[in-house]
Amino acid sequence: MKNKIPGRPRFAYVSNSAWSVIEHFGFHCYPIDLDAIYKALPIVSHTYQYYMSMWGVTLDEYISSVCGIKDGFSIYDKGNNLYVVSYNTQDMTQARIRWTLAHELGHIILNHFGEFDATSLCGPGLTEEEYGVLDVEANTFASELLCSPAMVGLLPERERNIDYISNLFFISKQAAEKAIEQWMEHQWLHKKHAAFFEQQFSSYLYGGHESA
Ligand SMILES: [Zn+2]
Repeated sequence: MKNKIPGRPRFAYVSNSAWSVIEHFGFHCYPIDLDAIYKALPIVSHTYQYYMSMWGVTLDEYISSVCGIKDGFSIYDKGNNLYVVSYNTQDMTQARIRWTLAHELGHIILNHFGEFDATSLCGPGLTEEEYGVLDVEANTFASELLCSPAMVGLLPERERNIDYISNLFFISKQAAEKAIEQWMEHQWLHKKHAAFFEQQFSSYLYGGHESA
């Protein structure tokens, strides 16, 4: 029997999970190396375009066969204990693809497949609301992994702009804007998270980075 999906996103659990990954992989600078994480886990990842050519279908046909999901999705092959991540590359920037890959990693690392019956993409299974909670969790995971608002807050003020942040963290301008917004709106919360980033990225923040 699977657990019930939480009624609200578990922000503390999600953030802690993302920071554990950063710590475990010994990341001390940005951008975060998603490849290294994918390689270390039982994940097979392919582009939508890979499946399209294998099955001889168009992008539209492929997307409608996966319930209209445009960016990417993951499924869990329980028998082989293998996660399959599929992601779209057409008209997607590298930065947006990175976000999709980090988001899917969130579903996997947060154990959405093991803990809940989140294996089915469409049809019976999760309600939209339940799916929404898991998706917010996956997005929060991606944000904490790729560009935590706490880290944004630690940057010198002159670097806290969309161009600088999207380059440094290799995220889209839209995601950079959101991270800055998050920092501005919830400084008190993100300040509590600063200690981890100060320690983990100390050489980046305080060493060899002097252009004041
Ligand atoms: Zn999702």
